Amino acid sequence: MGKRLQGKTIVITGASSGIGRSTAREFARTSPKNLKLILTARRLDSLEALATEIQEEVGSGVQVLPLKLDVSKPDEVRGFVGSLPPEFKEIDVLVNNAGLVKGVAKAPDILEQDTETMISTNVTGLINMTQAVLQVFKKRDEGGRGDIINIGSIAGREGYPGGSIYCATKAAVRIFTEALRKELIATRIRVMEIDPGQVETEFSVVRFDGDKAKADAVYSGCEPLTPDDIAEVVVFNAGRRENVVVADTLIFPNHQA
Ligand code: NDP
Repeated sequence: MGKRLQGKTIVITGASSGIGRSTAREFARTSPKNLKLILTARRLDSLEALATEIQEEVGSGVQVLPLKLDVSKPDEVRGFVGSLPPEFKEIDVLVNNAGLVKGVAKAPDILEQDTETMISTNVTGLINMTQAVLQVFKKRDEGGRGDIINIGSIAGREGYPGGSIYCATKAAVRIFTEALRKELIATRIRVMEIDPGQVETEFSVVRFDGDKAKADAVYSGCEPLTPDDIAEVVVFNAGRRENVVVADTLIFPNHQA
């Protein structure tokens, strides 16, 4: 598998923590030769620390570019590919992982601003990133070549009380991914989705606006997945032989079944 990833340039959104961070480390660990990682998020200091960590772990076979990018800002996404140094421009894999949930509230009480944040990040941000990177893929071979791996959620398949907007954003990701896969079916562009259940990350800290006690309570009495569990699936999917598309993966902890 590592061999198939050799020479690839991989973009990960939301690489500053959780699943994105683990995914960056897993790519580097699995394929430590001739790999280029473009790590993006809003917190540049965390990305830089991660880049140093990866470099210390696997050496100079992996080139890492930490890049500040807010996917909810269309201008930043529009300028993203153009801003890359020449040696990082030939993107092969996009992992659309950046996402968040804001608040827990019944639909009538959800703050307009929280709705806007979730939609502009989870939906519009993911779509804009996809379109930007597809421009690179389309220039390659006949019809294009490259991989898009979208991180959805179990919440895109099954709504839960207090999460209506977040669930709606993840359902949108699901349908967008499916339609795009069908549009690109005769090309060498693969479009895949991974839908995690409960994973212990900063996700719930963000949900409760930094209230760690409330965030920790989400995981009490259950054993969530780790971000590494999801990272392994991302890297597995990207490392399949070109004719193999692991289109749709649902992964959750046993207690959540
Ligand atoms: P984290 O909060 O640890 O990571 C979220 C990442 O997204 C961070 O790196 C954050 O970086 C980034 N991010 C948030 N907003 C933006 C933005 N506007 N622009 C760029 N980056 C952004 O949570 P997870 O790792 O758990 O979440 C990753 C994905 O997994 C999300 O899409 C989430 O919906 C999904 N998921 C998570 C589950 C869970 O239980 N944890 C379950 C199912 C799906 P920064 O703040 O530096 O910008």
